[in-house]
Amino acid sequence: MMKGSLRVARIAGIDIGIHYTWILIFMLITWSLAAGYFPVDYPGWAEWLYWLTAAVASLLLFVSVLIHELAHSLVARSRGLPVKSINLFLLGGVSNLETEPEKPGVEFAVAIVGPLASIAIAGVFWAVEYFKLAPFESAEAIARYLVVVNVLLAAFNILPGFPLDGGRVLRAIIWGATNNLKKATNIATITGQVFGWIMIAAGVFMALVVDLISGIWFVFIGWFLNSSAEASRRELELRSLWLNVRVASVMNDRPESIGPGEAVDKLVNEIYLRRGLRYAPVAEEGRLLGIVTLADIKKIPMGEWKNTPVSSIMTRQPLKVVSPSDDMRTAVQLMAENGLDQIPVVANDRIVGMLGRADIIRYVQVHHELGRR
Ligand SMILES: [Zn+2]
Repeated sequence: MMKGSLRVARIAGIDIGIHYTWILIFMLITWSLAAGYFPVDYPGWAEWLYWLTAAVASLLLFVSVLIHELAHSLVARSRGLPVKSINLFLLGGVSNLETEPEKPGVEFAVAIVGPLASIAIAGVFWAVEYFKLAPFESAEAIARYLVVVNVLLAAFNILPGFPLDGGRVLRAIIWGATNNLKKATNIATITGQVFGWIMIAAGVFMALVVDLISGIWFVFIGWFLNSSAEASRRELELRSLWLNVRVASVMNDRPESIGPGEAVDKLVNEIYLRRGLRYAPVAEEGRLLGIVTLADIKKIPMGEWKNTPVSSIMTRQPLKVVSPSDDMRTAVQLMAENGLDQIPVVANDRIVGMLGRADIIRYVQVHHELGRR
């Protein structure tokens, strides 16, 4: 689950989370519908009816986005890609796939189904409007609104710039045609950036000539598109880099461990201060018992350091651990999900290393510098 997200439901085994920024957008949309959009098309309603209609409409917009994401997730899962959760946040939704598609055909199917789902939803509400199925006027107003937003949702997402669905479709097509994933990603990223710039330019024009608020929205979305194109490319690169790296080649393979009976005082002076570390595994004859970090030490006053054994403040087993033969992607993911700054590396119940944030950064930096030459 994304940081700052609240789990609200579980559909087909997939956790659905709402990020707090989404609540802001929900209120903003409700307000703009109640105060501006509905009164123009449907004058003469009672004030409360505008607000009720607006709230239901923005809730259904939320359901529309959710269905769009569920479509991605369910197709991904049917093609063998596990899906953990769906998060709805400020600008829409995101499905958290555990792995990237390994074939262009799979990526194409997973990406295209989202916009298709939005078009299908628009079609349903269009039918409600066209065949006059709405039982009362505000239901008709909601149906009309949902046709418009779902078409917009599909249209925006199908723009051929990475990381939008259309960018993924484009990437899958180039990938399939050239059999070169890196080249395909780069082209889709550049088109994403170009579209971002076009939207920013169009937004500035709109703000000056047509309407300030819509213009600002365009600039904002363009900027988001532009910056996330590059960020997504880098994330993908990092992911594929990590896929071929074992924990054993990044970890600190000589972790300074400490016995459970040793005093906290000794830990601070001989390991933390002398070696510049912020953690130490607690082990007895090579067997991992727990881990002790700077944060654990802050829990007791300095005067008691001499008489307190490490075992009384450490975090005990069972801990999250990795094996030296795990790939780094697994390790990094485990650390990120559990908010860990370091993780013990264990083989046959024995501690063989520690993987810390500093080790990872050092590894990336050295690689980066070598790559430049
Ligand atoms: Zn999508």
